[in-house]
Amino acid sequence: MKITDIRYERLEGVYELSAGHAVARQVGALDIYPEYRQRGSRHPQPTAGSDSVPIREAYVFIDTDEGITGLFGPIYEDQTFQIERHLRPHLIGQDPLAGERLWDILSRQDRHARKGYMMMAISAVDMCLWDIRGKALGLPVYRLLGGPTREVVPAYASALGFAIEPEKVYEQALAFKQEGYTAQKWFFPHGPGDGRAGMERNLMIVRTAREAVGDDVDLMFDAWLGWDVNYAVAMGRAMAPYQPRWLEEPVPPDRIGAYAEIRRLAGIPIAGGEHEYTRWGFKVLLESDGVDVVQADPDWTGGISEMVKICALCSAYDKPVFPHGHSVLPALHLIAAQSPETCPMLEYLIMFNPQKQWFHKVKYMPEGGIVRLPEEPGLGIVLDEERIQARTELRWR
Ligand SMILES: [Mg+2]
Repeated sequence: MKITDIRYERLEGVYELSAGHAVARQVGALDIYPEYRQRGSRHPQPTAGSDSVPIREAYVFIDTDEGITGLFGPIYEDQTFQIERHLRPHLIGQDPLAGERLWDILSRQDRHARKGYMMMAISAVDMCLWDIRGKALGLPVYRLLGGPTREVVPAYASALGFAIEPEKVYEQALAFKQEGYTAQKWFFPHGPGDGRAGMERNLMIVRTAREAVGDDVDLMFDAWLGWDVNYAVAMGRAMAPYQPRWLEEPVPPDRIGAYAEIRRLAGIPIAGGEHEYTRWGFKVLLESDGVDVVQADPDWTGGISEMVKICALCSAYDKPVFPHGHSVLPALHLIAAQSPETCPMLEYLIMFNPQKQWFHKVKYMPEGGIVRLPEEPGLGIVLDEERIQARTELRWR
């Protein structure tokens, strides 16, 4: 089999927002500047009187001479440029089933291919190659990876975007529990720029969520790169009585020494790694003893091929991997083929993962806190033509 072409398409349609969709903002790295702190949510908001928003998503297609096409998305359009400009010359005419060789070549073809958008582009190509392999052999990807290790995969409810007023947190946290989720994650709105009042509002979320769910549900909290060491240590100590399962990404990802310091002083488990790349990035993170929980994202860190290596590394360090939930399918296939000790759960962003699957005919969403495994060969992405109102080929040539 040989790769004959690589194509990119921008799909456009109208996304129907779920009832009560109003997106709360979360703290971020830019919040140290007042003008950025005052910005609203970066997520789509309904306009007055409407419950739908325009949606556009990019997909990559890798064609072969045997009529099998590997498909992956949604991805950022920046990734499609990287694939076209840097990766395409190393892929056309090559055997798509020899994915290990191609990953190695793609990671060596440019000295800047270590991290960031170029590694995200390599990740998207890797997904397409797994999709081709699955379609060629007539098996879902998790079977090619040696799974399933379980019949279904448990998911945790990730509450990014949900309202953070105490009564709403209480109501929603209880609702997640009643739906069957055994774990849930909340996002902090405030950081060091918001003073003691902001810290108190952050703590109110922790307190309220714990009151709502009782002791038998895991609660996780995400600071999304928005804090510094002192703030994270103070928050960690104040959160400790509420027994959080973890505090996530308290500081930007390259501050590895800071992670280790926070972990030593805060008195609660620390999670990180959704913005880390490849086995070599995770090796440094693990050696630094900076995290209790690893959150590599298959869509960004190097694809499913690289995730398998990262999982092996993490299992040798006895650190669980809870893959970050940028999209559902790659993480689902991976988790279904790893020991439940290595990959306990899927992250499901209740408000945003349905949006990422808007153009997919078959959707993977938790029911009762668990997700069924895909049956289609390959990754299982089948585009729903009825939802695609416009399709534009992205041409970088
Ligand atoms: Mg996160």
